[in-house]
Amino acid sequence: MNASRNAGSPPTREQFAALDAADPLAPLRQLFELPPEVIYLDGNSLGALPKAAGDRVQRTLRDEWGRGLITSWNHAGWIDLPRRVGDKIARLVGAAPGELLVADSTSINLFKVLWAALALQRQAAPQRRTIVSERSNFPTDLYIAQSLAAAHGCELRAVDTEQIAAALDDSVAVLMLTHVNYRTGRMHDMAALTAAAHAAGALTVWDLAHSAGAVPVDLNGAQADFAIGCGYKYLNGGPGAPAFVWVHARHAAHFEQPLTGWMGHAAPFEFGPEYRPAAGITRALCGTPPVLSMAALDAGVDTVLAAEPYGGLRALREKSLALTRCFADLVDARCAGDGFIVVSPRIDAQRGSQVCLARGDGAYAIVQALIARGVIGDFRAGGLGLPDILRFGFTPLYLRFVDVWDAVEHLQQVMRNEEWKQPRFNQRHAVT
Ligand SMILES: *Cc1c(COP(=O)(O)O)cnc(C)c1O
Repeated sequence: MNASRNAGSPPTREQFAALDAADPLAPLRQLFELPPEVIYLDGNSLGALPKAAGDRVQRTLRDEWGRGLITSWNHAGWIDLPRRVGDKIARLVGAAPGELLVADSTSINLFKVLWAALALQRQAAPQRRTIVSERSNFPTDLYIAQSLAAAHGCELRAVDTEQIAAALDDSVAVLMLTHVNYRTGRMHDMAALTAAAHAAGALTVWDLAHSAGAVPVDLNGAQADFAIGCGYKYLNGGPGAPAFVWVHARHAAHFEQPLTGWMGHAAPFEFGPEYRPAAGITRALCGTPPVLSMAALDAGVDTVLAAEPYGGLRALREKSLALTRCFADLVDARCAGDGFIVVSPRIDAQRGSQVCLARGDGAYAIVQALIARGVIGDFRAGGLGLPDILRFGFTPLYLRFVDVWDAVEHLQQVMRNEEWKQPRFNQRHAVT
């Protein structure tokens, strides 16, 4: 899969088409409803619609809600959905059955597990009062940590990527990181950083928002402590899909979380006045699960599991690395002189499933001009020393090598024709 690096002659679209013809994962694209005129490079922000999701949600609506009414909590198994869908996601992130649940949003689950990690440390090592994270972490993660740090009398120390390991001193209670950085696509070595955190006496909280369903993750192999992740990105669960939460078995029997709702109670239908936590991860639940959203997420997770006969995440990862490598190399070759800097790591082991391009100015307008041509990526604002970026996510389940070729062709046209300078591409929308 090195079409873009053939020595001598520049690559051709035919070579990319040949990669598609030889791609064993190519049939998986059929699982998705994709507008034919669109090249979708934003599955890292909102996964595409699985064809099965419509039927799945319709069945839940018409048969289970419409006919079964409230009996569906038992008869259609609604009450087990957090665990059932959670067990499927567990297979994708190196967790065991019964260790991972679907619930709430990523932000809310982060609040729960970060609180839980701080509570464990308050008992074990009360002098530890620092949460270490990455300065370029996703804002919600930093905001949640700020609020918890203030409430727990702790401090959030958000450091540069290169400073993370050095920041793990004996004041650190928790290392909280997003496995694949949302801006740069840089992937941390989860096992190594978890080991470093543990050696320093800290616990780890991993956000898998840009990892789950995109790159192989081995939570148990890494001995991680807590993890959370997003349902609507590479898991294709639909807009606002519920998120997931995982706790290592060594903490599962005694961790505490602050949102002590009735669904996390040991016996919710006894309706007793005193909170008593359920065994294990079930206590991570708070309230009633969003059944319709869970049904859509179930269909989304199934699209990732559909890759299992073809080699699963290992095969998806191999294709994803090839797609991102081809894209970065083609941008270098065909847009040289257009002011783009590939900021995502070139080293495969450090790159998630996206490629980000930094540009001094015009990044927002270039993304808008690409969207007008049917190439959907997104823009992430810079600031605090970070550049504006154009972000392109590559979902190997449904993207083709010719999509990579065509996307770069469009980018070249946008730059050559100076399309991005048109005023209509320079008006900011509410959601970028
Ligand atoms: C997408 C993402 C989120 C999203 O959180 P919500 O609660 O779903 O809005 C959180 N953290 C990271 C790192 C993300 O990439």
